Amino acid sequence: MTDVFNAIVADEIDGILKGRLVKLSLSDLPDEKILVDVAYSTVNFKDGLAVSEHSPIRIAQQLPMVCGIDLAGTVVESSAPDWQKGDRILVNGYGLSEKYWGGYSQKARLKPEWLIRMPDALSLEQAMAIGTAGYTAMLCVLAIEDHGVKPEDGPILVTGASGGVGSITVSLLATLGYEVVASTGRISENGGFLKDLGALRLIEREELSRPSEAMEAETWAGVVDCVGGQTLATALAQTCYNGVIAMTGLTGGTEINTTVMPFILRNISLHGIDSVQAPHDKRQRAWDRLADVMDLNKLAEIYSKEPLSRVPELADQILGGQIKGRIVIDVNA
Ligand code: NDP
Repeated sequence: MTDVFNAIVADEIDGILKGRLVKLSLSDLPDEKILVDVAYSTVNFKDGLAVSEHSPIRIAQQLPMVCGIDLAGTVVESSAPDWQKGDRILVNGYGLSEKYWGGYSQKARLKPEWLIRMPDALSLEQAMAIGTAGYTAMLCVLAIEDHGVKPEDGPILVTGASGGVGSITVSLLATLGYEVVASTGRISENGGFLKDLGALRLIEREELSRPSEAMEAETWAGVVDCVGGQTLATALAQTCYNGVIAMTGLTGGTEINTTVMPFILRNISLHGIDSVQAPHDKRQRAWDRLADVMDLNKLAEIYSKEPLSRVPELADQILGGQIKGRIVIDVNA
């Protein structure tokens, strides 16, 4: 086994916190029960926040930190009874890149309770094309289904639709027969892409980011919101009686200026979605459903593959809203 390997590590250099490509050895890794040969990771918005020197917030709670909130790979050593050499696994969240070393690394030592057994239908690469973004998209879809919203109830709005969570949500909902309306700030650039994924209609980001009334015409049976801020306030004002908003993102802001009216007059539910600390059974349910429902031909259109060395550059791009769909990181390229 090669002792020296590549990783993207965030550290403070000359007072600036940023991620860069470094060499590590097995003795640098934390003392955990499972050693994994990592094959792929991904770039999510949070990875951008963790790696970019232009990030407005600090993700790593201790330094140095191997970044990357997702990984897929193969177990090479295990002292935990449930996991054997050769098992194909994936991990999302659980504090990777915050408290624990993450997936931008050719090797990782991991706690057994973080591991998800890879569904047979997915390759390691496909699982990372889905990644935290797609798994979060499925948590949003499950929230809509569990709330009882059916395709015949009316359109579902997806905001921040060209991004990772948004694009996979569009694809999943369309495959499940929902009428999907995609909101994007990049209609001319990404409109065709979103329609190919199954969006029936597109609306401009500004239609939702404008100041809204407390209550507007009932339009959406459900909403998956990746944007937050004023966009979420407008979506709330337009959600139909008994509707649900699965709220997961903050790319448009963290504050919500709204009133109690949509909640007390329209019985609307605002359902927060957290992928990081979601319980293990919910994760496995989401991944098993992804393996069933995800259209792998559409998935192939959503992602591109990049080497580990490009992560710092891609981190800046995702924070700048310049990434379309998903990026898989081949940590061995
Ligand atoms: P991406 O950067 O891939 O997508 C975000 C999208 O939001 C962009 O593509 C863009 O879509 C839109 N957007 C960007 N900037 C703005 C802006 N200033 N105003 C309005 N819209 C904007 O990120 P992800 O899909 O990976 O993540 C989306 C959000 O969900 C992030 O905030 C992320 O932190 C959060 N998230 C939360 C998780 C959780 O567990 N709660 C898990 C995963 C993600 P377009 O160009 O189409 O308008």
